[in-house]
Formats: sequence, C-alpha cells, structure tokens
Amino acid sequence: MVTQPTKKKSIINNSTIDPNKILPLTYTFAREYYKSGVANNWTPEEISMQQDVEQWRSRTALTESERRLILWNLGFFSTAESLTANNLVLAVYRHVTNPECRQYLLRQAFEEAIHTDTFIYCCDSLGLDPDEIYNMYETIPSIKAKDQFVVQLTTALFDPSFVTDTPEKIQRFLHDLIGYYVIMEGIFFYAGFAMMLALKRQKKMIGIGEQFEYIMRDESLHLAFGCDLINTIKTENPTVWTPQFQEELVALIEKAVVLEKNYAYDACPQGLLGINAKQFSDYVEYIADRRLERIGLPKIYHKENPFPWMSQTTDLPKEKNFFETRVTEYQSAGSLEWE
Ligand code: FE
Ligand code: MN
Repeated sequence: MVTQPTKKKSIINNSTIDPNKILPLTYTFAREYYKSGVANNWTPEEISMQQDVEQWRSRTALTESERRLILWNLGFFSTAESLTANNLVLAVYRHVTNPECRQYLLRQAFEEAIHTDTFIYCCDSLGLDPDEIYNMYETIPSIKAKDQFVVQLTTALFDPSFVTDTPEKIQRFLHDLIGYYVIMEGIFFYAGFAMMLALKRQKKMIGIGEQFEYIMRDESLHLAFGCDLINTIKTENPTVWTPQFQEELVALIEKAVVLEKNYAYDACPQGLLGINAKQFSDYVEYIADRRLERIGLPKIYHKENPFPWMSQTTDLPKEKNFFETRVTEYQSAGSLEWE
C-alpha cells in the first residue's frame, strides 16, 4: 500500500484533490475499515429463522413483554437503518471528498442495505404486519423522539447550499456527524442490541439475535470510522474545537442518553429474566462515556459495564451453523472489539 503523508490533502474542503485518485492514500484508517467491512460480509438469509418462527407462533415460548420488546426493536431498527443510509448517501458523502473515505462510505452504505434487508427478512419470516412495524417511528413516542432528535440534529447537511467553508460551518458539519455516528449509530442502537442479545442468551429468537450480532459488529466499524473522521476534521481544523462548542456537544449527548434510557424503560419496563430495566439504562450511560472519550470529550457517567458479555472481543464463529444451514465463512481473519 502506497502512502504519502506529506502531500497536502485534507479530509474535507480539498478542491485541489481529484476525488477519483485514491492512491497514494493519506488516510489509511479508511482503507483498513473498508477491508474489515469486506472481511465481515454476511447476508440475513444465511441465518435460519426456523426456531424463531416456531417460538413466535407458540403461545408459551415467549412472554407478552418479550414479544412486545421484539416488535419494538424491529420497529425502531427497520426505519433507523434507512434513515442512516439516506443520511450517509445524501448528506455525508457530498461533503467528504477524500477518495479513500468515500470508498469506505460506499461500503458502509452497502452494509446499511444489508441491515435494511435483515428487517424485511424478519418481517417476512415471522409474518409481521409491515404497517405496524414500519409505522412505529410515528406511533411509539419513545421511538419517534429518537428519530426526530436525529433528524433535527442533521438539518444543515440536507440544505443543498450548505458548504463547509467557514469555521462555523465546519462546526456545524462536526455537530451533524456526531449526530449520525456517535448518537444514532453509537448510542441509539445500543439498548436495542443489549435487549436482543440478552434474549438470545436465553435461547429466545436466536436467529434474530444472531442477525443483531452481525449488525452490531458492522455498526462498531461504522462508529469507529465516524469517530476517526470526526477526530481527523478536529485535528485539521483545531480552531473549531472551542470549549463552548465542546459544551454544546456534551449537552447534545446528554439529551440523547435521556432519550435512549426512556426508550429502554418503555421497551422493557419489567426487564428480562435476570436483568432489570435499570441495568439497560446503566448500560446506555456506560456506552455514552465510551463514545465521549473516543472523540476527546470528558466522561460524564462513570458507570461500570453491567453487561460485560456485550463487549467481549469476538469473532463470530460462522462455522457453528455448519450442520444446521450452510457454511458461511467470509471472515478471513481477525476479530473485533465490539462497541
Ligand atoms: Fe446499520
Ligand atoms: Mn451503520
């Protein structure tokens, strides 16, 4: 791989760089995330929904509150994945002109299409009412609140005349990137991940649980790329990272944490076997501190991780499906730290 760190290239606002010339690379992190994304390739149809369908149809396998929690998470994620994909392609891509970053954004967009496909597959397999699932972002207040928060956070980027040509506008761009990557993908997805993975640990809806594991593995890369993008823009434009701007960002993240905790309590008021609702809320705070640190902001909550099993270093052993379905071994090497 050819790299040329001395060449003057910047991650945004570089009209002197041809966006079609990817080599020599400046931002090797983008190339590495691209390759990790390819190594993690998967599709939802590789995962059998047989047991999930049996449990969903049975009157006794799942409690009423578990069924509700599953529907809520399908409802939130089914539309959130499209929202993320649209933001990425229609807004982020336009402003990030660096070619190796754009290559990663295209990979991420493909992964968002896989995630959208996952929820089509879940609705089809379980015979769910699409109108119910795909309208939950309107009908369930704590889902609506999260989606509206993200949409409001990111209005500047959808203005076709928006350009990142002043320090204030670079701040606005960073603010919106933090809305997409840190808040949407880094906080708003995680109570749902924890719930669905907790169910899977109890051998409930293991097909959907496995799909959520793969989505979470992808999202952990999206988030890592987003934070590196944010940190690079900060480094290249140090004057925009003022104490006042940092305070504004911390306040946004605090608001997002409140919304995600509300969602966690609403979706899962009684907790799950062995897990109480407050632990989901503590988990959201723990995750938020990790995100704050990742972009150079101070921690707020200082919570222990109540679910250490969520952050185990893992490479999902796809061969475990060998006798049940087909061999699906895309992952060539390595493992990922989740979160
Ligand atoms: Fe996604
Ligand atoms: Mn994503």
